[in-house]
Amino acid sequence: MDANLPAAIGFLAEVRQDSARPPEPVFAARAFRARWHERTADRSLHTVLLHFGAPDEAYAREAGRTLVFAGELYNRDELLGLLPGRVLPGSDAALVIALFDVYGIHAFRLLNGRFAALLADRERAVAATDHAGSMPLYVSVAPGQVLAATEAKALRGAAPRGRSFPQGRPFPQGRPVRRRPGICQVPAGSVLDIQVSTGLCVAHRTWTPPAARRILPEDEAVDTVRRALERAVRSRTGPGTPLVVLSGGIDSSAVAALAAHRSAGPIDTVSMGTDQADEFAQARVVARHIGSVHQEITVPTGDLLRGLPHAVWAAECTDPDVIEYLLPLTALYLRLGDTRNDGDPGGDGDTGGDRGTARRILTGYGADIPLGGMHRESRLAQLDTAVCHDMDTFDGLNEMTPTLSAMAGHWSTHPYWDRDVLDVLVSLEAGLKRRHGRDKWVLRAALSDALPHEVVVRPKLGVHEGSGTTSSFSRLLTDAGIPKGFVRQAKRLVVEEIYDQVVVEGRHPDEVALDAVVELISERAAHHPHPIPR
Ligand code: AMP
Ligand code: MG
Repeated sequence: MDANLPAAIGFLAEVRQDSARPPEPVFAARAFRARWHERTADRSLHTVLLHFGAPDEAYAREAGRTLVFAGELYNRDELLGLLPGRVLPGSDAALVIALFDVYGIHAFRLLNGRFAALLADRERAVAATDHAGSMPLYVSVAPGQVLAATEAKALRGAAPRGRSFPQGRPFPQGRPVRRRPGICQVPAGSVLDIQVSTGLCVAHRTWTPPAARRILPEDEAVDTVRRALERAVRSRTGPGTPLVVLSGGIDSSAVAALAAHRSAGPIDTVSMGTDQADEFAQARVVARHIGSVHQEITVPTGDLLRGLPHAVWAAECTDPDVIEYLLPLTALYLRLGDTRNDGDPGGDGDTGGDRGTARRILTGYGADIPLGGMHRESRLAQLDTAVCHDMDTFDGLNEMTPTLSAMAGHWSTHPYWDRDVLDVLVSLEAGLKRRHGRDKWVLRAALSDALPHEVVVRPKLGVHEGSGTTSSFSRLLTDAGIPKGFVRQAKRLVVEEIYDQVVVEGRHPDEVALDAVVELISERAAHHPHPIPR
């Protein structure tokens, strides 16, 4: 297996009292597939695992329990320190099951990672997400049967069982999935304790966004942010050369600079743009400064928009704003190919095909949420209100899903949503986020010695703006006759229609006729004489 990648990036697991086999699931994530079956006196466990060549590392067995673990941990060293006198577990799965033996379900409160897990423990099934739910996890529960999967569409074969529970949900915190009664999403930072025979579920929180605010002197705040981010980048860069998706904004440039600091050779960076807009000049300044092997990928706008079904298929999200952020990155990931450099900055990259093309990708995604970066708000009360709102509402949007890059066969991870970085960033008092007339001041100050001044002070530009995605999507709709005042609502309807086709009905995104979807929505708009923009 490539030591640079997690053992598994997704699964479907079924725990039953009898021993039926789950149907062959559909996943958007692309990796090797392994089927695995285990029968004990109390139950059977069937798993379909998405892996990179060493599926066994994604399983662990101890004391009659079996754990299926997709993703990775970022605080292994800390966790190993909790198990003195034991043979130290090699894989993340083995580490988690050893901690479970000591801490029970509270083991999941110790983990800083990007993962989804299912544990079969005699007559119990335990399903867990990481603190941010950054790898989505869906369950379908009925007396005698528990199904869990990292993509909702993988549960398509499961019979609707929601009616046996109040409001169709086996537990009150479960997030219903659009038009899939009986399936619900496990909330971020949660562990579900399920009694298989009855289907009784109890949800426990393993993380909540901090509500209190820390008051720190400037230099201490800056130092705390720098150290937390350095550690998050370090724990996310494996033995191979990391690839950073770089816009040239402060968030991704910070990640690239810190990854470059700790890398023996030059790292890889890549920027995307379209025929409408790009940030190539800004990204080039950073690439030159850190000495990365840099690549620019231009996506024609027509191709970008034709990626809408793929973005929805991967993210399983109906929020049009989120899909607009994710669309340019979807297009970028699908065009990455083999970008591995051979240590020669300025060279044109090595395209040797025999080393495997799966990459470990770091992004600058998500820094704006705890820092209130996209609100362009200078009043501190409003800024903190916005941060609270965004931290309360991110769950279920699947913005951080690894499936976006996994659809193209790559593994991505977001240092700003490291559990410890997030705790630090959320909890700083608003005056450290907005200061001296700058947004995200504390982050900018923390990187001031590592990046050119023009990058440190560069104003926020969202990827949907920098690539022209928002305006191109709007134009697609107005060109089809949709009135300007209805565009926002129409975007939502387009995304929902695509979602219904690829997630609910199980169609492959290549089979979705985007023009027909737009036409359908435009006809609906025509019959809606006074559209009320949302
Ligand atoms: P933003 O919306 O600008 O915060 O973008 C989120 C993340 O997506 C950034 O931190 C980058 O890692 C990545 N990104 C944004 N724009 C680009 C781009 N033009 N090319 C490559 N990666 C990008
Ligand atoms: Mg940006």
